[in-house]
Amino acid sequence: MKYPHLSLQKANEPYMAEMKAVAAEVIEGGWYIRGKYVARLEEQLCQYLGCRYAVATGNGLDALRLMLRAYIELGVMRPGDEVIVPSNTYVASVLAVTDNGLVPVFVEPSADTYNLDTSLVEQAVTPRTRAIMVVHLYGRACWDSRLKEVADRHGLKIVEDNAQAFGAVSSVPGLQGAFHTGALGDVAGLSFYPTKNLGALGDAGAVTTDDKALADVVRALGNYGSAVRYVNEYKGVNSRMDDLQAAFLLIKLKYIDEENRRRAVVARAYTESICNERILLPQAGESGEHIWHQYVVRCAERDRLMRYLEAEGVGTLIHYPIPPHKQQCYREYNALYLPLAEQLAHEVLSLPMSSYLTEDDVHEIASVVNRFA
Ligand SMILES: *Cc1c(COP(=O)(O)O)cnc(C)c1O
Repeated sequence: MKYPHLSLQKANEPYMAEMKAVAAEVIEGGWYIRGKYVARLEEQLCQYLGCRYAVATGNGLDALRLMLRAYIELGVMRPGDEVIVPSNTYVASVLAVTDNGLVPVFVEPSADTYNLDTSLVEQAVTPRTRAIMVVHLYGRACWDSRLKEVADRHGLKIVEDNAQAFGAVSSVPGLQGAFHTGALGDVAGLSFYPTKNLGALGDAGAVTTDDKALADVVRALGNYGSAVRYVNEYKGVNSRMDDLQAAFLLIKLKYIDEENRRRAVVARAYTESICNERILLPQAGESGEHIWHQYVVRCAERDRLMRYLEAEGVGTLIHYPIPPHKQQCYREYNALYLPLAEQLAHEVLSLPMSSYLTEDDVHEIASVVNRFA
């Protein structure tokens, strides 16, 4: 395959020398979990995003699960309460809700952004609603003043799934005045899974917030429910970050703006060079709003397009082929009618996207796409 959807080897190549050196430091340092590299990463995340607290977790799903669990421990939510979630998202967003005994209420995406349609949120609010979950899907910030107003009017928390959009900014400030995704709402879950734009070399995640009480509970929950050794306030889990991953992330964090800038160049080159009436291109939004975790096109004959590209040496992936409410694990929601999410699941296709793609690469891929008939 000339153009795999993503080569992690190539994506990490620019950082390998630095990462090997820091790996040796960590190994020799003799402290491997929640040590000084993790503490430094938490500080740097706060500084970058413009939030007050960051708690490193074992992975992104745990970050989302634990932030909701912390709200339950603090009495802000109770099992059975409703959380509004986008119908067009990765299943992990919804798993975090149901894992806590909370009830997902699916709201359709906007056809322009594929993100939660904020104009449909208010009609989904009931007396049991406690939060709105926004997912910055494919790297595009999902945020506007209408969302804040609805949350305000009904006393709802806004929780962010920021697994895909590290470094994206909104043109509308968040609840505390910050502009970065991950610091817009009341709390956010981040993922550093290797394929994300800020990717570790293993599982890793974080919760970010301005709420000290919430951050403290998340930190305890990820450590068996214990803030003081051998004293267990909560029935917690083990979800902590390795120092090795934190050390790698500290290196990659230094370059994240440059990484995102190059992704934007790749995305613009795709948008300028793909021209095929069968294929609908994604919209960039305002400057900085999209960090292009994925470049996702739509095509009515998606499966045929995918096979054609594969045969021509272009690797693609589908994000995502089955919406959460149609999954076998969510039989109770299978009968819901969410036509746009369902249509997107049949039409979306993610082209190769990484900062290592050159202009020539993009033009070659685009010309293959343009010949699809
Ligand atoms: C990757 C991802 C997650 C889960 O993160 P992990 O680190 O893989 O557990 C959650 N939500 C979305 C939207 C994701 O893309």
